[in-house]
Amino acid sequence: MRLAGRTALVTGGSRGIGKAIVRALAAEGAKVAFTYNSNTDAANELVKELELDQREAYAIQANAADAEKARELIESLLEKWEKIDILVNNAGIIKDGLLATMSEENWSTVINTNLTSVYNYCQAAMRPMMSARHGRIINISSVAGRYGNPGQTNYAATKGGIDGFTRCLAHEVGRRGITVNSIAPGFINTDMTEAVRNAAGKEITKQISVRRLGEPEDIANAVVFFSLNESSYVTGQVLTVDGGLTLGSGM
Ligand code: NAP
Repeated sequence: MRLAGRTALVTGGSRGIGKAIVRALAAEGAKVAFTYNSNTDAANELVKELELDQREAYAIQANAADAEKARELIESLLEKWEKIDILVNNAGIIKDGLLATMSEENWSTVINTNLTSVYNYCQAAMRPMMSARHGRIINISSVAGRYGNPGQTNYAATKGGIDGFTRCLAHEVGRRGITVNSIAPGFINTDMTEAVRNAAGKEITKQISVRRLGEPEDIANAVVFFSLNESSYVTGQVLTVDGGLTLGSGM
């Protein structure tokens, strides 16, 4: 229970990596609110699971790209909890395609969901964290932001953008007791990667040093580290969690 008394907000927490993050923070004793976009059943199921385990958890439908909704949500959490200790910007989507034929909509939806959302939630959480002189901001980026993938100009632009954002904000708020870090996952076993996994899972596994795909819990463990007091001297960093996928390879 290393996070007992802490409060956390996770965007996109109903499935995949976000779900594992919500579970891990709650298991360490934090009160956790999480957002989702459309799958209300998955969100409610997770709340039920956590409540059965005597944890405090809330699910809120909120498109991460909606700045007004982000402000309202943070306000309502402050009324309930009086503080937000941990913010995890995890919500993200892919809309892959070669740039030559990428629609403006597929460009801007990915930019707004993955990157503008980080601005929305960080800005809304900034004032309460600065007043409390404590905060942990953890942004989920991707190895694609650094190494790139064909068909992911929109996605990689958001993830590289998140890492740059992380370093700048870390500079701005370090003196206020707030740390800001990114986690760059490699290939993780979630709905997002299902199609690629089905098509090329075995080939991908061969490229990973530890010879397995990542599990959502591998990312959640890193989030817990960045949430703890023990990580207070680590800020502005991008932690790659990819089982060695990008180690010395073509990536
Ligand atoms: P996922 O399995 O597709 O789950 C996405 C989660 O985000 C769901 O809870 C979904 O809610 C929510 N979400 C989607 N669009 C949203 C929006 N507009 N507003 C609020 N919530 C939204 O994805 P994942 O694989 O767990 O990925 C999570 C994060 O890790 C993403 O930022 C992704 O880019 C990053 N990442 C993943 C991998 C990987 O290999 N999986 C690798 C590198 C980075 P609904 O259930 O309502 O749709």
